[in-house]
Amino acid sequence: KLYNEVQDLKGNIRVYCRIRPFLSGQSKKQTSIEYIGENGELVVSNPLKQGKDSHRLFKFNKIFGPAATQEEVFLDTRPLIRSVLDGYNVCIFAYGQTGSGKTYTMTGPNISSEVDWGVNYRALNDLFHLSQSRKNSIAYEVGVQMVEIYNEQMIVSFDLHTLGIWNIAQPNGLAVPDASMHPVQSTTDVLELMSIGLMNRAVGATALNERSSRSHSVLTVHVRGTDLETNAVLRGSLHLVDLAGSERVDRSEAKGDRLREAQHINKSLSALGDVIFALAQKSHHVPYRNSKLTQVLQSSLGGQAKTLMFVQLNPDVESYSETVSTLKFAERVS
Ligand code: ADP
Ligand code: MG
Repeated sequence: KLYNEVQDLKGNIRVYCRIRPFLSGQSKKQTSIEYIGENGELVVSNPLKQGKDSHRLFKFNKIFGPAATQEEVFLDTRPLIRSVLDGYNVCIFAYGQTGSGKTYTMTGPNISSEVDWGVNYRALNDLFHLSQSRKNSIAYEVGVQMVEIYNEQMIVSFDLHTLGIWNIAQPNGLAVPDASMHPVQSTTDVLELMSIGLMNRAVGATALNERSSRSHSVLTVHVRGTDLETNAVLRGSLHLVDLAGSERVDRSEAKGDRLREAQHINKSLSALGDVIFALAQKSHHVPYRNSKLTQVLQSSLGGQAKTLMFVQLNPDVESYSETVSTLKFAERVS
C-alpha cells in the first residue's frame, strides 16, 4: 500500500524546512543560515555574536535549500497526498514570516506555468491522475473548497451562486458556514475555480497581496471513493494551508485594525502550535477549540491524520530574529 511510505512517522507529524534563495538586491554574504548539514540539520548563526554560543542547531525530517525545485519539494510530499485516496486525512501547511516563501511553496509564483506550480496544484493533479488509474476498482469523487480565515472570521472564496453546491458534512471539526463543495474532474476545473475564488475577494490586487499575509488561506480537497465491487465508501481529505505571516508586530507601533489583525494571527498561530505540540506529546487533551484555524483543521490534525509542516526561512541576516522564532516554533512541535 502506498501509505506505508509515510507510516513510520513519529506521531504522524513531519516537518520540512525550505530556505528560499536570496532575491536580487540581497547580498549573499548577509546570511544568518550558515550551514545546511546532512540528515536534516541546519545551523543558524547570530550575526551579533561570535564563538560557540553564536550557533544553534535545528533538526528536520528534510531540508530543501535555495536550489530545490518545486518538483523536488513535491516528490517528498506526494506519498502523503496519495494516502488521501486511501481514506486518510492530511494537513499540509506552510509557516514562516511574510516573504519567506509560503505562497511560493503552496501555490507557486505563477500558476500559468506548470514548472512553477506549488504543492496545491501538483497535489490535485496527482490525485486526479491516480484516481483515474484506479477507476476500474474505485469510483472517486473530488470536491474542493477555498476559505480564508481573517480576524477569526471565515470567508468562503468560491462564488456560491454561479457554481453548483455540494455540501459535505464534516465528520468532526467545524463545518464551514455556507460550506460549498464544488465537484471537480480535473486540475483545469480547479485552476478555474481558484481564479474565480481569487477574483471574488472584494479587494484589489495590491490590497489582496497585503491582506493575504495577514489571513490564513485554506484549500480543502474532499475525496469520496466507492469500491465498485463491495460498494464500501471511503473518505479522505486534504487541507492545504498558506498561513498568515508569523512575524511579530511591534505593539508600540501597531494600532487599530493592524493591532487587531496581529492579535488574531498571534492567537491562531499559537493555538496551532499548541495543538500540534499536544499531538506530538500524545497528550489526552488537544486544545482544538482555541481558534477558528484549529477548528477548521481538526479533522486533519490528530487521530490517524497525517500532518506536514513546511517551515519557510528567509536567509537574509535582517531576518535573523524572525528566523530563530520560526525555528523555535518548529522545534516545539517536532
Ligand atoms: P510569503 O508567502 O511567505 O509571504 P512568497 O511566497 O510571496 O512569501 O515569497 C516572497 C518572494 O520570494 C516572492 O517574490 C517569491 O517569488 C520569492 N521566492 C520564495 N521562495 C522562492 C524559491 N524557493 N525560489 C525562488 N523564489 C522564491
Ligand atoms: Mg504569501
